[in-house]
Amino acid sequence: MKKNDICTLNITDCTLSGSGVGHIDSLAVFVPASAVGDELQVHILKVKSNCAFAKIHKIINPSPDRIDSDCPVFPKCGGCAFRHISYEAELRIKENQVRENLRRIGKIDIDVDSIQPSPSVNAYRNKAQYPLSMQGGKLSIGFYAERSHRVIDCRRCQLQSDEFTVILSVFNDWILKNKIFIYDEVKHKGLLRHIYIRKGEKTGEILVCAVINGEKLPHQEELCDALLKKLPQIKSIVLNINKEKTNVILGKKCITLYGREYIEDELCSLRFRISPLSFYQVNALQAERLYNKAKELADPKGKTVLDLYCGTGTIGLTMAKTAKKVIGVEIIPDAVRDAKINAELNGINNAEFICADAGEAAKQLKENGIKPDVIIVDPPRKGCSEDVLQTIADFSPERLVYISCDSATLARDCAILKTLGYTVTAATPFDMFPRTGHVETVALLTK
Ligand code: SAH
Repeated sequence: MKKNDICTLNITDCTLSGSGVGHIDSLAVFVPASAVGDELQVHILKVKSNCAFAKIHKIINPSPDRIDSDCPVFPKCGGCAFRHISYEAELRIKENQVRENLRRIGKIDIDVDSIQPSPSVNAYRNKAQYPLSMQGGKLSIGFYAERSHRVIDCRRCQLQSDEFTVILSVFNDWILKNKIFIYDEVKHKGLLRHIYIRKGEKTGEILVCAVINGEKLPHQEELCDALLKKLPQIKSIVLNINKEKTNVILGKKCITLYGREYIEDELCSLRFRISPLSFYQVNALQAERLYNKAKELADPKGKTVLDLYCGTGTIGLTMAKTAKKVIGVEIIPDAVRDAKINAELNGINNAEFICADAGEAAKQLKENGIKPDVIIVDPPRKGCSEDVLQTIADFSPERLVYISCDSATLARDCAILKTLGYTVTAATPFDMFPRTGHVETVALLTK
């Protein structure tokens, strides 16, 4: 097999990025947007010593999982991995990935529960960050193509609410009318970098944020007026200042142009304040189910609960009514401020929040003689450091609930925890991100 060959290939497996995998002479061949069960003619693009890459030349026999993609920018935009197969087929791939990672990387031999499907497959996202580009006088607003910083124009993404499309159209007209200078990240010149939008699922409140490489936005009143005229449910319009040459989207400073500097939402019958810089689960309806499962596994009644990587305090606060005490730890100051206010908003007075690195705070709490009975961890994709895992084990909690958005790092961390005396006794995958290649897992570890 060599570059530009046309070969016949049967797809037997699928990755989380939506590539089907088949074999030619025992070499794995990856084919984007193909499906398990496809019989294909493929065009070989690249052959390496351990694998090859190809694109579909012709579908000889389609997989029964196949459906017609209903999105004009799939798979170019890099957001969705699975618009070409049924949701059931996607769930099978995700469940299998979690099971395989726990077994292969974590050497954990348990019956992983069935994956919990998302209540909605489209329009479930409550947050979007759109990059912009201006090239040859053509304005693009949308998403970065996979593994690139090329903006694919997409004003109507089916994962987002329709109101986001309206907001982008207001920005479009205002940018063109006022000749707003769009940021160019190669030259590090220009003003408007990203349009960032958030919506409260239950409250309907919307926050609109313009991320700018500067301190002031020209014609900002006109923008605010146009936005509010179209969507009175906008409760907050904010500038975020990011003057760094970086691919981190948000800077540290926000300036409120209209309304409050936050929106509110409801989750598990509690009210939450969410500031622009604070983390908040993007699929709120499914987050409620995930939190209920975490609570069931944590069994917090009468216990001291330590909630590490707590964001705005959501998980710990949903347990506070039955727990004896909740201590949350989070590194972003705005999120900690939100968490404290969220406790107050809900009349909860047995919760405290610490702004610090999870590992450092845990060590400090240990030195201060705090003894949590239950520990919750919900780290970013890279998982926990060995240090954090060691300190967790030193606390010797009855239960450890690990919520993870990457089952590979979850499996790695569980393998380490096994050497520290904790074994996984239950694991449930949750599909928080339908049609994309991401899957969440909640696992219970006990001594
Ligand atoms: N449990 C929360 C947030 C989970 S996201 C929820 O369900 O909403 C992970 C959180 O970990 C983010 O808020 C992030 O800011 C925080 N974080 C990242 N690195 C951290 C660290 N080293 N120490 C403490 N918190 C950290």
